[in-house]
Amino acid sequence: MSFDDLSAELELRKQQSLYRSRRTLQTAQQPIVQVEGREFLAFCSNDYLGLANHPEVIRSFQQAANKYGVGGGASHLVNGHSQAHHELEEALAEFTGRPKALLFSTGYMANIGAVNALLDKRDAIFQDRLNHASLLDAGLLSGARFQRYLHNDADSLDKKLAKTDARRHLVVTDGVFSMDGDVADLPALSSVCKKHQAWLMVDDAHGFGCLGQQGGGCAEYFAMPNDDLQVLVGTLGKGFGTAGAFVAGSDALIDTLVQHARTYIYTTSMPPAVAAATLTSLRLLKEETWRRDKLTQLIKQFRQGCSELGLTLIDSPTPIQPIMIGESSKAMQISKILEDDGIYISAIRPPTVPQGGARLRVTLSAAHTEEQVNRLLHALEKVS
Ligand code: PMP
Repeated sequence: MSFDDLSAELELRKQQSLYRSRRTLQTAQQPIVQVEGREFLAFCSNDYLGLANHPEVIRSFQQAANKYGVGGGASHLVNGHSQAHHELEEALAEFTGRPKALLFSTGYMANIGAVNALLDKRDAIFQDRLNHASLLDAGLLSGARFQRYLHNDADSLDKKLAKTDARRHLVVTDGVFSMDGDVADLPALSSVCKKHQAWLMVDDAHGFGCLGQQGGGCAEYFAMPNDDLQVLVGTLGKGFGTAGAFVAGSDALIDTLVQHARTYIYTTSMPPAVAAATLTSLRLLKEETWRRDKLTQLIKQFRQGCSELGLTLIDSPTPIQPIMIGESSKAMQISKILEDDGIYISAIRPPTVPQGGARLRVTLSAAHTEEQVNRLLHALEKVS
């Protein structure tokens, strides 16, 4: 059997400006990167606090690699659960104010594992229509009745919850929406959940480190009581600057995940050195509050500059600051012009975002300088 039909599909994607391709970085994640031999000022990393390349984080990684070796060696439940993993779980539980936290190798796996350990076809899942792909996939895989409510709209959720007679109800939302940067209205969602006895699960991949005085994410930002947010997911590859993810919650929740989350049980543990490095980045993330202050200033500077240029932004208080373009071809064109100017920003197109919603997803980091943001604004002036 030939692959001709695949080739035809790929060609069509190219014609529609929807073809995805990768670039190869020759440097660490930092504002100035070298990509395929050329130097760029990058605004597309999720390393929001500039910790991915922090000397102390690197040192902890190196020391732990000397002690534990590189690979986790086995799954957590066989003999892949090291002291480094254990200490990080304890620290994350304390950081989130929950009885327990459980490490997963990626955020994608945390979401798939958690939802599928909790739900099956007797249950119902309710998702914000702009939730991350891993949450949507998690819901579909579970076999639970699947419903999407209007973006960040507690009334829309309320109406859908009122009509269900399932065994368990799980409401799932991004904390900070990954492609829009806006923050889920957790107090409103939580009060609807309480009314209908539904659990609330928040994937705060982009909130941890960025929101809240201590970087505790959306839960801290809204001062949510722990009991109002039953399943809290964080990823470590963004604000923490390392890799992996965790789920935090009650003893019963975490014990259930250990028993049933297949993406926890049937996979090799994350490298212990990653856990050790994350323990250091967690300390820096909490202590170095200047990183969040600096981000806040850069966000303000960028938004003000864009508004002067007449660019369309989303109402986002976070480092995710998409510039709305519309057509995929136009987004690609602008990203290419910026690239010629030495600025690297990725164009995000359907199906990652809704049809007609192509955008330049600008992300800011505490590692950027005021001058670098000015340089971006100058480059944008030429294309606006
Ligand atoms: N959830 C959200 C909201 C995300 O944006 C991402 C990463 N893009 C993930 C989960 C997946 O996390 P990871 O990269 O650790 O698999």
